[in-house]
Amino acid sequence: RAKSMGKACYEIFSAQMRTQSATLFSLNSDLPQAIEQNQLRLHYQPLIHLESGKIQGFEALVRWQHPKKGLIYPGDFIPLAEENGLIVPLGYWVLKEACRQNQLWNQAYPQATTPLFISVNLSGRQFRDPHLIENIQKIIEDVDLLPHSLKLELTESVVMDDVEVSVNGLLSLKKINIKVGIDDFGTGYSSLSYLHRFPVDTLKVDRSFVMRMHDASDNEAIVKTIISLSHSLQMDVIAEGIETAAQAEKLKTWNCEYGQGYFFSRPVPSEKAEALLANPPHWAYPQDA
Ligand code: C2E
Ligand code: MG
Ligand code: MG
Ligand code: MG
Repeated sequence: RAKSMGKACYEIFSAQMRTQSATLFSLNSDLPQAIEQNQLRLHYQPLIHLESGKIQGFEALVRWQHPKKGLIYPGDFIPLAEENGLIVPLGYWVLKEACRQNQLWNQAYPQATTPLFISVNLSGRQFRDPHLIENIQKIIEDVDLLPHSLKLELTESVVMDDVEVSVNGLLSLKKINIKVGIDDFGTGYSSLSYLHRFPVDTLKVDRSFVMRMHDASDNEAIVKTIISLSHSLQMDVIAEGIETAAQAEKLKTWNCEYGQGYFFSRPVPSEKAEALLANPPHWAYPQDA
C-alpha cells in the first residue's frame, strides 16, 4: 500500500513538474517580446518613515502583463531573465521607468524635507555590467532626477559574491551619489565580518524575521541586533514584510527608520500609488507626528 501511495504521489508530482516546465519554457520564449512590446509594468510599494507615518519613497516591483497568461509576478520570470541575460535590458527598462515616475511624483508632490526616493532592485548581472554607471547617469540625466533620490537594492548574496569587486562597484555608485541598500539582509551566509567594508546606506531586514517576531523572542532579538548593528555602521534600516500594527509599533520603538509591507499597502499600480501621495492615509499604529 505504501508503495502504491508512493507511486501515486510520484505521478502527481511529475505531472505538475511537466506543466511547470512547459509554462517556464513558453515564458522563456515569450520574454524577449515582453520588453519590445511594452508588456512590462511597474507596481509601487510605499516605504514608510515609521516615526512620522509618512511615505518617504516607493519600491518599484516589476510585473509582466502577458497577453495570454495574465499578470505574472517576478518570481516566475526574473530567474529566467537572469539565466538568459535578458535581465540586463529588462533592468534598464525598470530603472528608467521608475526614475521617470519618481521625478513626476517629486514635482507634483514636493516634500517638506527630503525628496521622495525610489528603490529599484538590481540583479547581480546588472551590478557587474561594465556600462552600469554610464547608463545610470544617462537615465537620471534624461529624466532630470536627483541622483540621491535613487536607491538601488542589491541582495546580500550578490554583494557577497565577490567582495573586492562589490566594494569597487559600490564605491563607483557612491561617487555619482546613488544610494544603495542591501536587500533581504539576514538570509544569505553571514556577511557580518564584511559589512563594514560595504559603503551602503541601508540594510533591509528580510521579511522572514519580521514575520516571526511574535512567536519567538529569538527573532525579536535578531531584528533588534540588525537594527543596532546598522546604526553603529551609520546605515539606516528598512523592515520589509510588516503585516500588522503590532509589528509596525515594535519596529518603531526599536528605532527602525522605515517600514514596508501589506499593513501599509501592497505594491500597487502607479495611479493607486499616486492616490496614496495625494491623500496620505493615517496608518493605525502609534506615531509621533
Ligand atoms: P524584494 O525586492 O525583496 O521585494 C519584496 C517582495 O515582498 C515583493 O514581492 C513584495 O510584493 C513582497 N512583499 C512586500 N510586503 C509584503 C508583506 O507584507 N507580506 C508578504 N508576504 N510579502 C510582501 P514581488 O513583487 O513578488 O517581488 C519578488 C522579488 O522579485 C523581489 O523581492 C525582487 O527580488 C525581485 N524583483 C522584483 N522586481 C524586480 C526588478 O525590477 N529587477 C530585479 N532584478 N528583481 C526584481
Ligand atoms: Mg527589493
Ligand atoms: Mg527584500
Ligand atoms: Mg525578498
